[in-house]
Amino acid sequence: MGDVRGEHYLFKVVLIGDSAVGKSNLLSRFARNEFNANSKATIGVEFQTQSLNIDGREVQVQLWDTAGQERFRAVTSAYYRGAVGALVVYDITRRITFDNVARWIDELRMHSDTILVTMLVGNKCDLSNVREVPVDDCKAYAEAEGLLFLETSALDATNVHTAFHSVVKEIYDRFT
Ligand code: GDP
Ligand code: MG
Repeated sequence: MGDVRGEHYLFKVVLIGDSAVGKSNLLSRFARNEFNANSKATIGVEFQTQSLNIDGREVQVQLWDTAGQERFRAVTSAYYRGAVGALVVYDITRRITFDNVARWIDELRMHSDTILVTMLVGNKCDLSNVREVPVDDCKAYAEAEGLLFLETSALDATNVHTAFHSVVKEIYDRFT
């Protein structure tokens, strides 16, 4: 998996955010091009490893998905340990899930000793007809907090690959 110089890159990236915002579906869309309309809460911590091509190099990313423990402080420190990146996901059709983003980011910062590459992800942008969270609010918030920001749809695949790729690229640029 190394490049010509024999280096091997493996980055741990965690997905966090309220229950039912679409974390597991973002992951399954990215990893397997699958979407599940009736997905049940994930049982147990799950992670998957994916390969990405960054500037012509193969980079492995280990993507962690919360286990239906999406209450504050229920996600254990083992989940965050060693992470260098995070996607903090909310649902653009439920304002409360965006209001809770600041608490998720607090948790993330509390559990990590490095400054993580963090992307704010507004999922379900296919449902913009029932949008509760204006995109400009999130852009401003992300800018103020130094976060990357994208709206995605796990349903129609909008920006899903771009979101994961951007986070990994930013990590790669920062750590190499
Ligand atoms: P998690 O609890 O954050 O892992 O959320 P899930 O991935 O289990 O998704 C929760 C629900 O939202 C499921 O019914 C999904 O089918 C639905 N969902 C997830 N992503 C999207 C999306 O981008 N658009 C729409 N319309 N529904 C989605
Ligand atoms: Mg889930």
